Amino acid sequence: MSQRIKNIVIVGGGTAGWITAGLIAARHKDRSENGVSVTLIESPDIPTVGVGEGTWPTIRKTLSRIGIKEADFLAACGASFKQGSRFDGWVTGADNDSYYHPFELPVSHQAGDMLYAWQNNIAEKSFAEAVCVQSGSSLKYLAPRQRSMPEYVGAMNYAYHLDAVKMANLLQVHICKHHGVTHIKDHVTGVIGERDSDIKAVMTRENGQIEGDLYIDCTGQSSLLLGQHYGVEFVDQSHILFNDSAVVTQVPVGENDPIQSETVSTAHEAGWIWDIGLPSRRGIGCVYSSAHMKNTRAEEVLRGYIGEEGENSKVRHIKFRSGHRTHFWHQNCLAIGLSAGFLEPLEASAIVLVELSAETLCENLPVTREGMRIEAKRFNEVFQYRWARIIDFLKLHYVLSQREEPYWQENRETTTIPSRLQELLELWKHRPPSHYDFEQAKEIFPAASYQFVAYGMGMLPAYHPTLEPSILLAVQKKMQAIAGKQRSFAAGLPTNRALLANL
Ligand SMILES: Cc1cc2nc3c(=O)[nH]c(=O)nc-3n(C[C@H](O)[C@H](O)[C@H](O)COP(=O)(O)OP(=O)(O)OC[C@H]3O[C@@H](n4cnc5c(N)ncnc54)[C@H](O)[C@@H]3O)c2cc1C
Repeated sequence: MSQRIKNIVIVGGGTAGWITAGLIAARHKDRSENGVSVTLIESPDIPTVGVGEGTWPTIRKTLSRIGIKEADFLAACGASFKQGSRFDGWVTGADNDSYYHPFELPVSHQAGDMLYAWQNNIAEKSFAEAVCVQSGSSLKYLAPRQRSMPEYVGAMNYAYHLDAVKMANLLQVHICKHHGVTHIKDHVTGVIGERDSDIKAVMTRENGQIEGDLYIDCTGQSSLLLGQHYGVEFVDQSHILFNDSAVVTQVPVGENDPIQSETVSTAHEAGWIWDIGLPSRRGIGCVYSSAHMKNTRAEEVLRGYIGEEGENSKVRHIKFRSGHRTHFWHQNCLAIGLSAGFLEPLEASAIVLVELSAETLCENLPVTREGMRIEAKRFNEVFQYRWARIIDFLKLHYVLSQREEPYWQENRETTTIPSRLQELLELWKHRPPSHYDFEQAKEIFPAASYQFVAYGMGMLPAYHPTLEPSILLAVQKKMQAIAGKQRSFAAGLPTNRALLANL
């Protein structure tokens, strides 16, 4: 029999490293001779990126699988509830230019029926408000659940806003204590193994060689194993997604101030600003393209957005490169997190990719080295598809803008738009985005997400006005029920702050 996969070595102790360690160790619990051991090596010299405060609803399942109680997580990570994203100023920049991308799905799976029913009846409401319970200004400070509900269960779908540094600390303490992961604080100085074969060991400064059967590269943007050791190529996507920089800060909030349950994303002349509300502070970051804006101007835009409170806040400048590796699993090494790639912070698509990568690995963990080759090939195919779809979806936000600044105009140039997205945009002039346009059962951004963004930005496809009347009536009824539900949620759900205080 070929070599058993028993020792898994993770290099990197950021969000990616700890989520991966936690999911593997919780799923493969046997620590006997026959079981799997998980070792995580983290450099004492290199801090984690320390951002990544917006998450996706998948995080609830991840935390629950790792065995962390929701109330403990919320308290330890200074977290709050997130119900979606609001986009201000993306279409024209006018004062009333705003739309919503909620986590809940619309009332109907049938894209044409829904568009027809919305356009012909309640078009004075925004699409999100008409078809989805999780929308409307009255819900924006509300929690998605009652205190009496079981943990991780909501009246509406939800994720969290969190403090990324506190999150990595909580994961580390919990996972080492409850799942027997060996944590080594040491700097990896080299990799032992030829470039065209498996990694045999990693060399550390204090602990010598550490051997494993499978290595997970979670070393952040340095991509120490996959990128530097194996030289797996980086596919630059900055010709499609222009942003490569962020200037970030934190603004304290009063203990009675309301906490927004949406990530507010506000467009500016050469990018956008995120605004994330936590119980004790707001995390605010100005994302921009350095080819279109100087860092001094980005800082000015950030401070201008915050107003008086922002005058003295300490800021941090971060550079990133939009793109990903050609493939992610090479020989006995799999990259997860920033080491695999990063596109930009819009729509918080990075941590969800970490979760999906780690989950796919856990569920398909090869028993032997022989089983790894096909597993790696399949993993790469699935995730190449996922990265490409995220690029399409993020680009959609820029392509549909009518803003006139050079950054936005260049974003609409055909040469910057992926060909699959171009084709879909052409198709969607004639019919709405539907589930027929997306191939995978587990799409990160399903047709509904495209509908929220496209209709929210004013792209209204044609629909076939020949629907059987009873179908239409059924959809309209569902939409009326939505309005009733929105009213009862607005009246019955606690505010984000009240629920957090109670938990
Ligand atoms: C501006 C910005 C905003 C973002 N916002 C979001 C968001 O809202 N939502 C979202 O989902 N994602 C967001 N992301 C992405 C998110 O921050 C990352 O995906 C997430 O934090 C995972 O990072 P990581 O663990 O891969 O890397 P890092 O946090 O960089 O961790 C790397 C780890 O590797 C270790 N390491 C490096 N070299 C060595 C070595 N030689 N030896 C040993 N250890 C080593 C380091 O010590 C560290 O522990 C954002 C990213 C940026 C840049």
